Amino acid sequence: MKGPDEGRDYIPYLANIDSSLFGLSVCLVDGTCFSLGDAAHPFGVESISKVFTAALILKQLGPEAVREKIGADATGLPFNSIMAIILENHSPSTPLVNAGAISACSLVEPTGNFDAKWAAILQNFEDLCGSPVSLIDELYRSESATNFDNRSIAWLLRDYGRIYDDVDLSLDLYTRQCSLAVTAEQLAHAAATIANGGVSPTGGKEVLSADLARKLTSLICTVGFYQSTGDWLYRTGIPAKSGVGGGILAVVPGVMGIGAFAPPLDAAGNSVRGQEAVAALGEELGLNVFQG
Ligand code: GLN
Repeated sequence: MKGPDEGRDYIPYLANIDSSLFGLSVCLVDGTCFSLGDAAHPFGVESISKVFTAALILKQLGPEAVREKIGADATGLPFNSIMAIILENHSPSTPLVNAGAISACSLVEPTGNFDAKWAAILQNFEDLCGSPVSLIDELYRSESATNFDNRSIAWLLRDYGRIYDDVDLSLDLYTRQCSLAVTAEQLAHAAATIANGGVSPTGGKEVLSADLARKLTSLICTVGFYQSTGDWLYRTGIPAKSGVGGGILAVVPGVMGIGAFAPPLDAAGNSVRGQEAVAALGEELGLNVFQG
């Protein structure tokens, strides 16, 4: 199966992004934000979109339904793993890998209504980011033309009864949400909202309940960096989620959200300099969530 170990070429659009870009943004739970470099530069949210749609279905269906229909476990496998579905009792394990995220898109309400589902996904993105987001049309077309692995995953899930709406509609919603543009500043705001018990640190709006914010953070913690999640957590103690667009969203509960952006990826599809920046910040500020 193709993957980011072949560079960013597996999604043609991403291969052409300037690899020298770098942005870092921090948003404290009191709403104070700091940014540097290309923190206002829009890029493809990719797998970080999974965090947003997990939040949406947690809200719409409740945590037990999400656990039962998708799962809330680690996979220890690459993001596009088909084995993850087969090994885990025919379940996608978590909404934060491709299989679980396609399943999550199928669960978004109202089922059967593409426009209304997409509107709900967008609204939820904007509530968490604290500002509007828009589709990168070229990325959406690039990914739609080359996502053969995700098509296979979607149909395998359908066979196992883990797609709860039309298969093509669910896959298309997933591809679209991956193609949304965000900035490191927006990721920091979304992370800070989660870190702040679901309440926007700038607008004061409750986007998620405190309980769902905790559940979402636990999902990020267990699988946010795919097969290198344990290693990341061991080194930094910071719950974080990556995307192959080069973004990282990191949640420090009760303290801050961090957004990082730097396109070059490691073999697991995680931003190399993004990881270094978040880890260095964590070291400097003592952000390890496991400290006593
Ligand atoms: N859209 C990408 C895919 O489905 C997202 C992967 C990622 O960011 N890890 O392959």
